This record gives sequence, C-alpha cells and structure tokens, in this order.
Amino acid sequence: MPTKPSISTEAFLELTQGTAIDPLLQQLEQQTRRTFLPALAEHMGPPAKGELFRVENLTKSYGTGAAYREAVKGASFAVHQGEYVVIVGPSGSGKSTLLTLLAGLEPPSRGAVSVQGNRLDAFTEEALAWYHRSVVGLVFQNFNLLDSLSVLDNVAFPLLLSGVPAAEREARALELLDSFGLAEFAGFSPNQLSGGQQQRVAIARALVHNPLLLLVDEPTGNLDSKSAQTVTQSLAELHKRG
Ligand code: ADP
Repeated sequence: MPTKPSISTEAFLELTQGTAIDPLLQQLEQQTRRTFLPALAEHMGPPAKGELFRVENLTKSYGTGAAYREAVKGASFAVHQGEYVVIVGPSGSGKSTLLTLLAGLEPPSRGAVSVQGNRLDAFTEEALAWYHRSVVGLVFQNFNLLDSLSVLDNVAFPLLLSGVPAAEREARALELLDSFGLAEFAGFSPNQLSGGQQQRVAIARALVHNPLLLLVDEPTGNLDSKSAQTVTQSLAELHKRG
C-alpha cells in the first residue's frame, strides 16, 4: 500500500509509494544507498540555518478514472539554508515530479510550495519567471548542454537571458568553470568532454545566477562509477563552500 513520504532532520527525503519495483532497479537503488549517500555523508557541511522552502501536503495527480495516478502523494517537509537534501525512492515513486513542483514548472494538484513564506501558486507570471531565472537552478540527468555553443557560453547562457553584459557573463562563467577545475575546457564544445565533466559544466550553468536552491535530478544516472564519484564530490564540495 502507498505510504507517505517521510523526512529526517538530516534532510533525507524518502519516497516509498508502494510502486512495484523491478529487481534491477532495486539493485540500483541499493547501490545508490551504499555509494552515493555515504560519500555525501563524509562531506556534509555545517548544520542548517533558516528555513527557505516549505512543502505542505503536496500532491500531483495525472489522468482520470482508471488512469488516475498520484505521482506525488501528500509530501510535507522543509528545506533550510545550507541544507543538502537527498531524495531517494524507486523509479516511478515521484522524485522527478517533486523536483518539477519545487522548480515551479508545474502547479501541484493539491498542497503548496512556499519560498520564504511566499506560496508559489500565488506568484504572478512575472514573479514565477523571476523564480525560474534567479531562485532555482536545475540540473538534469542528461546534462542538456548545447553542443553548438562553447562550454563557456553554455555556462553563461542563463545570464544572456537575464540581460547581463557580455564581459560580466564571461567573467562569472569562467570563475565557476575554474572552481570546478574546468577552466581549460572553456573553448571546447561540450561533446569533447567526458560525461562527468559535462555534468559539472551543467552544474556550473545552474549556479551562474546564484540560485537559492539547486535542484539536481539523478545527476549521476548516466555516468560510469568514476565520473559519478567526481560529480558527487563536486556537489558535496559545493555544499561545503556554502
Ligand atoms: P521518478 O522520478 O521517481 O522515477 P516520476 O516523478 O518520473 O518518478 O514519475 C512518478 C509517476 O508519475 C510515474 O508513474 C509516472 O509515469 C507518472 N508521471 C510523471 N509525469 C507524468 C505526466 N506528465 N503524465 C502522466 N503521468 C506522469
């Protein structure tokens, strides 16, 4: 039977909605718990400060009648400043959907996401555009980098959309690439980089506008174990730097 998601104070959100789990997926899940989570635990930073995000009784359903399905079912938790939240659960348990709701890319069916006390569903279109542009940063499993642009331009791209002047865009993008040890690849095309390097470029791009919340959806899902480790380490170091 479906159970409610729960969260520990160490910011560990687990989605267990009674989805039928394929044995292979179950194995992958256990692998994640064994490798990814302990690696993170080693690098965990200082305790959380003020509350930034609050999710209350969040539900997202799709379909009607026999096709009705609740992808996220009554999730409630808070995310504090400086917190590193890891969401785990079998495939289909609603992890990506939850991130989509936190990113304000889709409205919930019930419940609410609030950022510093402001409910996202009360935002005007303009405020929501600002939220996407400046408050959250998104990283996906498959990088979503543009091979027709250089690595530097990929990272700087969100600033172009915000109207930041070219010199400032490039300086900021280069600074971030440097912090991920990727400055020497600034002029390369993303497809000339390894998967782990591309994912770190994608993280740099998501950080370029200094988001309040970085949302990362299965960042190591497409990577071999060594690249996965470099990405996990980069995220942990990023969290430590604050
Ligand atoms: P996870 O990221 O944990 O693998 P998802 O959030 O992708 O899970 O999906 C949760 C459930 O919601 C799945 O059963 C999926 O098929 C369903 N779902 C997700 N998005 C949609 C959509 N746009 N339309 C219909 N069903 C969806």
